[in-house]
Parts: sequence; C-alpha cells; structure tokens
Amino acid sequence: MKILIAEDDPTSRRILGAVLTKLGYDVVSVADGNEAWEELKKDSSPRLAVLDWMMPGLTGLEVCSKVRARGAEEYTYIILLTSNSSHEDIVEGMKSGADDYVVKPFNRSELEARVKAGLRIINLQSELLLAKEKIRVQSRTDALTGIANRRAIFDHLDGELNRSERERKNISIAMLDLDHFKSINDSYGHQAGDAVLKECVRRISSTIRPYDFLGRYGGEEFLLVLPGTDESNAMLVCERILEQVQAEPVVFKGISIPCTLSIGLATWSGREDVDKLIEASDKALYMAKDKGRNRVVFF
Ligand code: GH3
Ligand code: MG
Ligand code: MG
Ligand code: MG
Repeated sequence: MKILIAEDDPTSRRILGAVLTKLGYDVVSVADGNEAWEELKKDSSPRLAVLDWMMPGLTGLEVCSKVRARGAEEYTYIILLTSNSSHEDIVEGMKSGADDYVVKPFNRSELEARVKAGLRIINLQSELLLAKEKIRVQSRTDALTGIANRRAIFDHLDGELNRSERERKNISIAMLDLDHFKSINDSYGHQAGDAVLKECVRRISSTIRPYDFLGRYGGEEFLLVLPGTDESNAMLVCERILEQVQAEPVVFKGISIPCTLSIGLATWSGREDVDKLIEASDKALYMAKDKGRNRVVFF
C-alpha cells in the first residue's frame, strides 16, 4: 500500500518516512504542497496521504480541498499534520476535507494507530467498489448465456444509433429467433433447451466481428447490432450465422438436437428511433418464419 507524506521540514519528513516504511508501507515523500497535489493526481496515486498543514506551495488544507473537489471514485484518506491544536483549527482542517489529524510533534504509536484506522476505511471502500462493480456487471448480463441482457443491448444500440447519426454511417440490426424452440423443450426438457440456447449463443458469438454486439432480447430471441454495416454486409454476417448454427446438431447428454434460426434484418442511415428499428427487424423476422424459417429476410 502506497502512502504519501508531504512535509517541508526535513527531520520530521525523515522520521515519518522511517516510521511508515518500518510498518511495511510503500512511502512516497515530497516537500511541498504542489508536489503533493501532483502525486495525488497520478493514475495510481497513494490512497492515503499524510499532509503537513503549513508547506510551501499549496498548504495541506488547499491540497485537501483539491482532492475532495475532484470527487474521484476511489477515496483518498487524508491525515493532516498540524502544530495548531486549537478546536477552531481542527474544525477548519476537517471542513476542508481532512479525515483525521495528528498534532506535531507527533507520537509514533498515535500516528501508527491513525494510519491503520485510515487503511481500514480504504479497504472497506475498495470492497464496496468491487461489490458495486459486480452488481453493475450482473445487472447487464444475461445469467444463462453470459451475453448482454435486454437493458445492456438497448443501451448499446442507443449509443450506436447516436454515433451512426454523428458519423453519417449505416447501422444494421438483426433480430434472431430460434426455430421451433418450444418443441425442443417439449421433446427433450428445459435443461436441453438451456443447453441449446447456450451453444447457439456460443456459435453466433464466434461468428460475429469484434465491433458487433449481441444481446438476449428475451426467451429464444437475440438482438444483434452491426455498426457501420450496410445491407449487403449485414446479409453476409447473417448468412454466416445461419450456417454456423445449423452446421451440426447440439449434443446434450448424448442426444443430438438439430437447430436452426430465423433472422429479420433492418438497415438505417441517419437518425432513426429505436422503436422503429426494432419494429422493422421484427416484421422481417416474421416474414422469415412465414417463408419457412432458417433464413434471413431484409426489411
Ligand atoms: P418459432 O419457430 O415460431 O419461433 O417457434 P418457437 O417454438 O421457437 O417459438 P415459441 O414462441 O412458441 O416458443 C419459444 C419457447 O422458448 C417458449 C419458452 O418456454 C422457451 N424459452 C424461453 N426462454 C427459455 C429459457 O431460458 N430456457 C428454455 N429452456 N426455454 C426457454
Ligand atoms: Mg510545514
Ligand atoms: Mg420467439
Ligand atoms: Mg422461436
């Protein structure tokens, strides 16, 4: 764990450094407030800082205010070093964003205890951030297939529509629906149905290009966003998907289950709203089903 020490007095800086290094921390020492702020601005900046109040350049209080004003997601815990121990000074220090303070000349064990208290807060916050990120990912992922869920695919589509309007590029979307999927469930059971869904997603994902985006629209329906893709190129991508999915049956517990899908395709250039695009690809999908399935129809 990296700790920043900002202290202009060389003796005090050396002792602080020695105490914290001995405790096993990775210490970065600077001698003025501007350097402290430079360190704290870096990408992998120390998460805990011991700042002297009075220093050349920015004061410890000013550094505190700057750190708080930037509002980074990762918290920086700040301990202020002060020779001012009046209540007013302490209040002023805390108001500017310091978490704690140590009065100089400092007592070693008190400093150690306060640094450890700060690290506890930092560790708690890191765990919280990790948990938050895990929930964010979960809320955007389809649990069965591991691809984007409905919410995530719509967000992505929205972003791509804005981009294609800005860059005046085509965008295609494809609505994919497994053929006679209900009869797979009915004949072999829902676990077999789930295995087919997963394997089909694997096959589709292995076929598309890195900038294409696949999500589960619902049930056995998937939405594929093909940015910068005109009608004929989108058609090629979809033909490849059809081939890949039907290439060989999905094997589940020794049973071979043949599968195919139908695709409705729509291409747009310029601004169009999401609903209209979905409606168009949906209509095309119904035509594909109507014409006998296992095919792509362009709206
Ligand atoms: P079509 O060719 O016209 O699309 O016929 P279909 O049988 O595929 O369409 P239908 O809408 O009648 O049936 C879709 C089925 O998909 C019904 C539903 O129970 C099943 N299903 C939806 N989600 C899941 C899932 O997560 N797992 C399994 N095993 N089945 C699912
Ligand atoms: Mg000083
Ligand atoms: Mg369906
Ligand atoms: Mg279906």
